[in-house]
Amino acid sequence: MTAQRLDGKATAALIRAEIAAEVAARTEEGETKPGLAVILVGDDPASQTYVRNKRKACADVGMNSWLHHLPADITQDDLLEDIAELDSNPGVHGILVQLPLPKHIHEEAVLHAIDPLIDVDCFHPENVGRLATGHPRYYPCTPYGVIELLRRNGHDPAGKEVVIVGRSNIVGKPLAMMMAQKKTAANPTGCDATVTITHTRTQNLADVCRRADILIAAVGKPAIITPDMVRPGAVVVDVGTNVVDGKLIGDVDPRVAEVAGALSPVPGGVGPMTITMLLLNTLRAAQQLDV
Ligand code: NAP
Repeated sequence: MTAQRLDGKATAALIRAEIAAEVAARTEEGETKPGLAVILVGDDPASQTYVRNKRKACADVGMNSWLHHLPADITQDDLLEDIAELDSNPGVHGILVQLPLPKHIHEEAVLHAIDPLIDVDCFHPENVGRLATGHPRYYPCTPYGVIELLRRNGHDPAGKEVVIVGRSNIVGKPLAMMMAQKKTAANPTGCDATVTITHTRTQNLADVCRRADILIAAVGKPAIITPDMVRPGAVVVDVGTNVVDGKLIGDVDPRVAEVAGALSPVPGGVGPMTITMLLLNTLRAAQQLDV
C-alpha cells in the first residue's frame, strides 16, 4: 500500500485563500487590517526563519505584521514592558512571542503577561482553561492545524480511535483535549474521538499505537514511529521536526507509507498548517476585538 499524502502545503493554501478573502472583505468595509506583532528575542537562526515565514504569511493574506527584535540580554522587566506596550496598541490583534526564550527569562511569566484577548497562540491559562471546558476563545495553532489537515482531507476523527504520542502543553495535551471533546456550537472543532495519550512511561508503546485509526506523533525523535507500530490502513500525522545532517525529518519512519492509509510528510505537512491557523486566530481576534 502507498499511503495517501496528507499535503499540508496544499491544504494550507486553501485555508489561506479563505482568510485572504475575509481580510479583503473586512478592509473593503473600512475595518482595520488584522495585525500580528511578533516578538523575537536574540539571534537564534531557526527562530529567525520561523518569524520570517510567519510575517511573510501575514503579508500574503493582506494582514499587518510587526517584528520586535530584542537583544538576547534584554531583562525580563523590559520584555514585559514591551508586551504591555503592544497590548495597548489597538492595531495589534495578536501577539506572538517566538520560543524558546533565553534562559534568564521565565517563559511562563512572559506568556501569562499577554492579554488573553490577543493571545493568538492560545498559551495563556485563561485560554487553556476555556479550551479545556469546551468554550474556546482560540484553538492552539499546531493541534488546530492537525485537525484541519485531517478533516479537509477526508479523515473526520469522530468515533475513531486516536492515539497521540507526546503530552506537551503545546501539542499533545491540547490536541488530546480537542480530539476528545464533543462538537458543539461553542466548540465546533471538538472531534468526538476516543483518545489515548502516550509518553515516556507508556508500556508497550507499539501495541498501543497499533490500536489507532489515527496515530499522531509529536515526540521530537527522528523516525521513532516504525511500520510495525502502525495498523495497516491507519492515518498517520507526523508533527515532529528534527534536523539530522542538516535535513528536516519527522518522527515517523518514511517506510510507514507502505503500511498506512494516509501519512503527512515532513516538511510540507503540519508545519504550513500551524502558521495558517495562527493567521486564522489573528483574523478571529480582529473580528472579536472590533465589534
Ligand atoms: P516536547 O515538549 O519535547 O514533548 C515531547 C513529548 O514526547 C513528551 O510528552 C515526551 O514524554 C514524549 N516522548 C519523548 N520520547 C518518547 C518516547 N520514546 N516514547 C513515547 N513518548 C516520548 O515536544 P513538543 O513541543 O510537543 O514537540 C514535539 C515535536 O513536534 C518536536 O519535534 C517539535 O519540533 C515538533 N513541533 C512541530 C510543530 C509544527 O508546526 N510542525 C509545532 C510544534 C512542535 P514525557 O512527557 O514523558 O517526557
